[in-house]
Amino acid sequence: MRKFDLRTGKPVWHGYRAPSVPTNKLVRDIRSEILVVGMGISGAMMAEALTGEGYQVVLIDRRGPLLGSTPATTALVQYEIDVPLTTLSRTIGKADAERAWRRSRLAVMNLKSHIEASKIACDLATRPTLYLAGNQLTGGALEAEADARRDAGLLSRYLTAKPLADEFGIDREGAILSHDNLALDPRKLTARLLNIARERGARLYDDVEAVDFDTSADGVTVGTAHGPTVRADHVVLCTGYELLPFVPADNHQVISTWAIATRPQKANLWPQEAFIWEASDPYLYMRATKDGRVICGGEDEEFSDETRRDAVIGEKSQAISRKLKKLMPQLDVTPQYAWAGAFGSTSTGLPIIGPVPQKPRIHAIMGYGGNGITFSRIASEIVSASIAGRKDSDADLFAFSNR
Ligand SMILES: Cc1cc2nc3c(=O)[nH]c(=O)nc-3n(C[C@H](O)[C@H](O)[C@H](O)COP(=O)(O)OP(=O)(O)OC[C@H]3O[C@@H](n4cnc5c(N)ncnc54)[C@H](O)[C@@H]3O)c2cc1C
Repeated sequence: MRKFDLRTGKPVWHGYRAPSVPTNKLVRDIRSEILVVGMGISGAMMAEALTGEGYQVVLIDRRGPLLGSTPATTALVQYEIDVPLTTLSRTIGKADAERAWRRSRLAVMNLKSHIEASKIACDLATRPTLYLAGNQLTGGALEAEADARRDAGLLSRYLTAKPLADEFGIDREGAILSHDNLALDPRKLTARLLNIARERGARLYDDVEAVDFDTSADGVTVGTAHGPTVRADHVVLCTGYELLPFVPADNHQVISTWAIATRPQKANLWPQEAFIWEASDPYLYMRATKDGRVICGGEDEEFSDETRRDAVIGEKSQAISRKLKKLMPQLDVTPQYAWAGAFGSTSTGLPIIGPVPQKPRIHAIMGYGGNGITFSRIASEIVSASIAGRKDSDADLFAFSNR
């Protein structure tokens, strides 16, 4: 199967030390109750949730822990789905759209509680978010979006130009202010989750590519590129955007995206270090790190190939710097880090989570979009319930049968 370059350049997270994750080599056939394929943030959340429920878990990765797209994320962990609630309501109906937004909100709250309860050191900070008027939603439509969110029980306030300038120093027609999103270091979080799973008995194998899936009534035998097999009662595919050929992908596309990080500059940061993103296409978004670097990303375009994506890192990072300077003239916008990566997306902006059609013992997660980390959390909740034979009341929203 083709191996993509999931990212290039130097993501800012490599400037901070994350715990190492010991792995083993797979040298013989093994068996386990659950096999998780992929050791990025999705596989880590999944393995930690499943070992927490008492399952025996094996993880494999064709690369190794944290070597996929996860280190490229800018890690604005938000409940606001990329597709506005008003837009999503028109596509999938108001009740389901509200349910998806509320579930995202719960996922962010659950992730925060879990990080705190498990004392995971990942530079966690709670941040408000400003969603700025842009070419996709201008003043009136943005105000309607704020009303729709409020009617769905999601605390948010529409700021007109004056309070936006007074409270945040930003010159725009308007913005929606919301609360309680999470800034964190994704490598530290992922590494710790994998290590918690390991401490509970999970076995981790790197350089193991799953290539063949032989399903029977009571389990799945997974063949690997270098020979040994893994037999499991259930398999969970957390392979990022590298989808296995039998996973239906009609409604799935891959997006290239670019990001920069500046030098630390605490004194120049904006009030409350709010997450900021624009209702624009292409959009711009930003956050600050614990030591005051500004991470800013955007300029998304449909993935064509790695060569093009990597060739334009310089050009894209200059465009991002220019836009950042325009919005925040007080910042030093010179990139100290610049990188590019890929993520999957669907037309509704919602992920697809659940058993693969005709293969009830294989669960897959795909199409994470710009809210990948929030959706990985939702997936860990829905898939653990499904494997345990429990019914998650939102599972239908994300199921393959719903797409
Ligand atoms: C620049 C950028 C910015 C982003 N910003 C945000 C953000 O602000 N907020 C947010 O929530 N999300 C964001 N995302 C999305 C987020 O990063 C992704 O949703 C997340 O990293 C996906 O994690 P994953 O574990 O599913 O995938 P990955 O980290 O890619 O892990 C998948 C793993 O599966 C392995 N694998 C694949 N196929 C096989 C196989 N056949 N056999 C064995 N192993 C296999 C790969 O080697 C890989 O290690 C961003 C993404 C990018 C690129």
